[in-house]
Amino acid sequence: MQYSKLVGLYRQLEGTSKRLEKTHYISELFKQTNDLNKLALLIQGTVFPNWSDKKMGVASRLVIKAITIATGFGVSEIEESWKETGDLGESAKILTQGKTQSTLFSHVLTMEKVFSNLQKLADIEGEGSVDRKIKLISELLTSAKPDEAKYIIRTVLEDLRVGVGDGTLRDAIVWAFVYTPQYDASTNEMTLDDEERKKYGVLVDQVQDAYNITNDLGEVASLIKEKGIASLQELGLQVGKPIKVMLFQKAKDIPDAFSIVGVPCALEYKYDGFRVQVHKDKEKIRVFTRRLEEVTAQFPEVVEYVKEFVDGNSFVLDAEVVGYDVKTGKHLPFQKISQRIKRKYDIEDMAKKFPVELHVFDIMFFEGMTLIKKSFKERREWIERIVKKVDKKIQPALNLVTDNIDEANQFYSDALQSGNEGIMAKNLDGVYKPGSRVGYGVKIKPVMDGLDLVIVGAEWGEGKRSGWLTSFALACLDETGNLKEIGKVGTGIKEKTEGVTFAQLTSLLKPLVIKEEGRSVDVKPKIVVEINFEEIQKSPTYDSGYALRFPRLITIREDKPVSEASTIGQIEDMYLQQ
Ligand code: AMP
Repeated sequence: MQYSKLVGLYRQLEGTSKRLEKTHYISELFKQTNDLNKLALLIQGTVFPNWSDKKMGVASRLVIKAITIATGFGVSEIEESWKETGDLGESAKILTQGKTQSTLFSHVLTMEKVFSNLQKLADIEGEGSVDRKIKLISELLTSAKPDEAKYIIRTVLEDLRVGVGDGTLRDAIVWAFVYTPQYDASTNEMTLDDEERKKYGVLVDQVQDAYNITNDLGEVASLIKEKGIASLQELGLQVGKPIKVMLFQKAKDIPDAFSIVGVPCALEYKYDGFRVQVHKDKEKIRVFTRRLEEVTAQFPEVVEYVKEFVDGNSFVLDAEVVGYDVKTGKHLPFQKISQRIKRKYDIEDMAKKFPVELHVFDIMFFEGMTLIKKSFKERREWIERIVKKVDKKIQPALNLVTDNIDEANQFYSDALQSGNEGIMAKNLDGVYKPGSRVGYGVKIKPVMDGLDLVIVGAEWGEGKRSGWLTSFALACLDETGNLKEIGKVGTGIKEKTEGVTFAQLTSLLKPLVIKEEGRSVDVKPKIVVEINFEEIQKSPTYDSGYALRFPRLITIREDKPVSEASTIGQIEDMYLQQ
């Protein structure tokens, strides 16, 4: 397919904020290609599905060099234009229009060529890697028409800005290959009767479920196109490929929890660590975070415990990794061990200093069987059968099945006494719903939750803080998965060691900068932080409609994906409750 066709779609998407219109445009292009995998990824502004740990890893400086080569303009001219447009993609477009370099040898760009060059970026390492990366990008730019250059650059910088969430893409798959609902373009609403609406809802859910298992909308689309939507039913888990984890709602107290999950239910300790998915396939054991990032190398002891103390050749477990104090043996809060997640060196040393144990609370696959459609009761039986209980190493999550409020209250206070965050209550008949916050499980905890917010900008410090990014702009998610700002945080971050430091945040955010203007920068939304605050207020200052009083940064949630950041809906609930 010619890349210009995809660019035509990008333009259409940018030209409307109406979700159904976007869905329509995408579904039309879906019908015109056989390469749904590539198309779906490029519409999401990437060339790797989110279960892949590959990254293009291209900073704006490198992009500027590539534009220099392709257009003949100098670095300072490009930077000048960037300052004006605030978007390197737009600048690439303008400069391509006025380019001084000969275009004699350029040929028509295909989507496949763009995709292939961008994928290659991830595999380039070692000596001369910068130059080779620049060459891959400039090669595309040399053949690109102005608008094509714009979207190539935005894709490379992972900042496509055409406003397409996963939900829109999912719906477009249904429209293209299963069922196209009628809609009224002027009101942006579907004109379906109750029956049709129900049917449509079921189809959308089926595609969403398949997406939650595969984490790959292109794969889902291809499957439907080739074998029909019924084939999704047979989709099983693949060991080695992480799935989205099931999420939990909140309950006020035990009676509230009982009424949500039903009784009798299973109560479990809510351990304060971070969540991992452990995949075993014969000898190979791999550990992933809920962000689907692989952390096998960072946690050699977890691999060891699973190898030694869990029976079975192949399985997928859901578990909490919890740190404990070497001297007292007591559980440590998440912040203490979070530094192990991204650690690339001195891993053995870190493992000694901050040892962890594993609490297994779910199982999604065992010896060829996908278990996510089995009841929690049955899954728990598997856990008890295969996971040995070995103190300070691994054990099934502590679990009590009850319908008795007093017994439950006792369990809750025991959990808190022994240093846990609270308890979970789980519906015994509940299935495992990847990626969904369904009411099959709830959490109960005494301390109000902080918010998990995404850093979208920052400011360079002054005086003794120059050289560091300070004052971080925070955003939450709206219903369609777009980021909305809710305030800034500068408190809770340290100048020296202990806890989260300015230097640490600066080194995380600097490679993510996509725009600089004076002292302020915009960054790619990748880093999730936990924020405490005194109060939530309504505020016209930020586009979320809310602001935080006395926000304070608690920790960097290296394990949490942006898609699991707090939503405006949750914030509104908290606002009403406070
Ligand atoms: P929250 O992050 O506050 O929404 O609480 C849910 C998280 O608690 C899960 O994502 C797990 O990381 C963690 N957790 C700790 N113990 C358990 C347990 N027994 N069952 C399920 N999740 C648990």
